[in-house]
Amino acid sequence: MENTRWEKSYCPYCGVGCGLSVGIRDGFPVKIKGDREHPANFGEICAKAAHLVPTIRPADRALHPMVRDKRGGELRRTSWPAALSYVAAHFRRIIALHGPDAVGFYGSGQLTTEAYYVFNKLAKGFLGTNNFDTNSRLCMASAASAYTASLGSDGPPASYEDIELADLFLIAGSNTAWCHPITFRRIEKRRQSNGETKVIVVDPRRTETADLADLHLGITPGTDVALFNAMLSVMVRERLIDEEFIASHTRNWEAAREEAMAWEPAKAAAVCGIGSRDIVRAALWFASADRPLSLWSMGVNQSTSGTDKALAIINLHLATGKIGKPGCGPFSLTGQPNAMGGREVGGLSHLLPGYRTVLNREHRADVARLWGVPVDRISPRPGLPAVELFEALAAGVVKAVWIICTNPAVTMPDLETVHRALRYAELVVVQDSFHPTDTSIHADVLLPAAQWPEKEGVMTNSERRISLVPKLVDPPGEALDDWEIAAMFARMMGFSEAFGFPDSEAVFNEYRKLTAGTPIDISGVTYDRLRRGPVQWPCPKDDHPGTARLYSNARFNFEDGRARFHRTQFREPAEVPDSRFPLVLTTGRVRNQWHTMTRTGKAPALLKAAPEPYVEIHPEDAAAAGITDGCFIEVRSRRGVLVAQARVTAEIARGVCFAPFHWGRMSGEFKAVNNLTHRARDPISRQVELKFCAVNVRPVAAWNSDNDQATHPPESAHGDDIEVSDVG
Ligand code: SF4
Repeated sequence: MENTRWEKSYCPYCGVGCGLSVGIRDGFPVKIKGDREHPANFGEICAKAAHLVPTIRPADRALHPMVRDKRGGELRRTSWPAALSYVAAHFRRIIALHGPDAVGFYGSGQLTTEAYYVFNKLAKGFLGTNNFDTNSRLCMASAASAYTASLGSDGPPASYEDIELADLFLIAGSNTAWCHPITFRRIEKRRQSNGETKVIVVDPRRTETADLADLHLGITPGTDVALFNAMLSVMVRERLIDEEFIASHTRNWEAAREEAMAWEPAKAAAVCGIGSRDIVRAALWFASADRPLSLWSMGVNQSTSGTDKALAIINLHLATGKIGKPGCGPFSLTGQPNAMGGREVGGLSHLLPGYRTVLNREHRADVARLWGVPVDRISPRPGLPAVELFEALAAGVVKAVWIICTNPAVTMPDLETVHRALRYAELVVVQDSFHPTDTSIHADVLLPAAQWPEKEGVMTNSERRISLVPKLVDPPGEALDDWEIAAMFARMMGFSEAFGFPDSEAVFNEYRKLTAGTPIDISGVTYDRLRRGPVQWPCPKDDHPGTARLYSNARFNFEDGRARFHRTQFREPAEVPDSRFPLVLTTGRVRNQWHTMTRTGKAPALLKAAPEPYVEIHPEDAAAAGITDGCFIEVRSRRGVLVAQARVTAEIARGVCFAPFHWGRMSGEFKAVNNLTHRARDPISRQVELKFCAVNVRPVAAWNSDNDQATHPPESAHGDDIEVSDVG
């Protein structure tokens, strides 16, 4: 393309973390290609990245700070100092009256590491509250909990290059073909180039990913732990475990073994709704493979048993000694582009930078020393995780929330509670690149944020690879980088010295000091080095090449160096079907949309395949309810209603239906699937169960998709039939 200069960048969507090559003409991006030199994608990209250009300057960009003149009044344009001093005055008043835990922050896996760091430092080190959580809690918290409990610290041990070496893929709870498409292409290529490579897919739906499988285990939703325990029991019986590895490098094997042996394949088959022979086959394939690689995502993590499900997968690798070696290991696929960076920098309410935790006094002391605050400034009490934060807002315990770069009024479960929380909070600050969104319409203060490619910072992908995202164009209007907004606010709160960062590089340099000596030591990573190419952590020295694979010396991140097996017990999901709500609803993504469509929804080409919400339902369930393909149906749970078109398909298991989560109530009151989901969460990771709730279905006559004021609106749509399931 004539007069076009090409710059390297990084995809702002999923955790595959593809490198981009951005064509810029007349100072603005005009074309996106894959960066051939980036090791995550070697030049390939998916449709979402290819259609980034129309998402940069849509008509609904937030351009100026705005403050609502009074409750129920209009948002009116103001200056940055006026907007931030308004927030500062409210924060001071609320903290003085109710204590620091009466305020909270809710961020996103789409923030840069620098933005995460500055908000985290402000909340935990200076305001004195650990109420800084992010939407990673809805995404990868269970994987993080499982890695920490079994391997001694968070962090996926494997790399994408292991895909080209693996001879068996166990893909669980992940429609990789749609949600991590470039990773999936690598799996497909490996499969095509090596006839011996096998693929097992565990998913209640027959997805495009399952189409690649040599063995598709279409289990009943929520029964993964029973399956993996039974696989382990087969391996024990067949003497396919690595006794030497277990004896030399692990602890607690007997507990895991004992639990697994209670799961005969026949018993698990009955629970999982699949054949026992398939369980045996999966176990034999896994144990006899030289290099099994287990990939998982939200179908495992978003569950009240999410941590146990991930632990059960890791148990399989520890029992066979297939971890820390080329081509094998447990490998969670991160949802968002920098959910990993968020975890590294302490962006969950129990964490501090460098995989430290607020519960540990030494960890608090390390961080307080660098931040220049007394150790008791950092509270030893974990802050509120995502769902609890919004529950506390709804209950009036937390008075003010600052929401950054995310849209919880669409993505959180049980939307009625979230909307109530946002309506009744004393102060809602929304920092976003777009307005209006389902969340920003509740804002008392709206802060316009720069988006890709208007800001500089680093992001870490699923394989621990840190890339530098450069600023290629100036943000529009008065929008600013997220970290700059946080630092300006901190200075306004009186913390000038600690937040006087001149640029994002200075933020990164302060953060990387805090990683020295930790499992994610990135002392050897600088902006200069990242400009030459991405680096996998740990990378403790300037001349260190980065680390493709963790635990290659079989020494795990516990003091004794031994990994821990865990007894993983199958538990029923929090809300099981009954005669009133006989079907299971599971939720997920469509191929070409990202989260709440604030960006991908602006690219017409991406909307074609699924312009409206839909519900997949099995032909027998559809027939029993009088539902035909394409008709509008009402899906009802104890918490609310979804109305969408039925897609009758045998590719979903009987008794299960599926709906995507991208649409919120702004698209139509009853188009939001999270009207239906519940707030029950995993007791360890506090991740919510977005993959399982009980619903009923019926056809809706004369429903007009363009108009939610349909001729026959759903009866008692919100709030009058609510039984809060709060078993977290
Ligand atoms: Fe971006 Fe993910 Fe697509 Fe790669 S696979 S181009 S990171 S959305």
